[in-house]
Amino acid sequence: MRLRRIDIVGFKSFRDKMSLEFSEGMTAIVGPNGCGKSNVVDAMKWAMGDMSPKSLRGQSMEDVIFAGSESARPLGMAEVTLTFENDGSAQWDDSIPREFREISEIAVTRRLHRSGDSEYLINRVGCRLMDIQNLLAGTGVGKQGYSIIEQNQVGFIVSARPSERRLLIEEASGITRYKAQRERTVKRLEKAEENLQRSEDVLLEVT
Ligand code: ATP
Repeated sequence: MRLRRIDIVGFKSFRDKMSLEFSEGMTAIVGPNGCGKSNVVDAMKWAMGDMSPKSLRGQSMEDVIFAGSESARPLGMAEVTLTFENDGSAQWDDSIPREFREISEIAVTRRLHRSGDSEYLINRVGCRLMDIQNLLAGTGVGKQGYSIIEQNQVGFIVSARPSERRLLIEEASGITRYKAQRERTVKRLEKAEENLQRSEDVLLEVT
């Protein structure tokens, strides 16, 4: 999936709404130190479901909300929307409305309120974080993807152990999604096995 646009409001240094269009070819974001270039990348990672404040260069998740400046008061909410071209590579869960599969753009939104409440949306309709992660898994985009390569990651890829490099290849080949599904299913099976065991114990007691 190709990223077409990012819309940011209230996220880190972006108090007011800021939109960036990514047309065909290469886009470079340039500017003086501290103007917010890395904050754009943080916004992308955050909207794709990054849950680690450290990876977003903060102490707590609240640090992503505009904290105020000399001339402006802090805001109560951060919102980032990533708009992708719907090229057919997205993985649709049954929980996502079928009509979304046909439209030409997929907009993924994450909101965080200072109260701690979070919202996730796909094409402006509320969903779970898991729905976004599932949607992006296997497309090469997403938290586990290699669509965002930071400086320290270049070194990691070069010096990674074969098992670590394999994880990157798995994401590229689109099987990460199935591995996550398998892990969830195995956990559910284990729970079912436990319940079965408990029922058998109860049955033994009453017979
Ligand atoms: P460099 O070229 O030095 O790496 P940069 O352009 O990548 O700089 P960023 O690191 O993206 O800059 O932005 C840093 C700026 O963002 C700092 O001025 C910092 O005060 C501001 N900033 C970060 N978090 C917030 C926040 N929650 N509220 C307001 N401003 C913030």
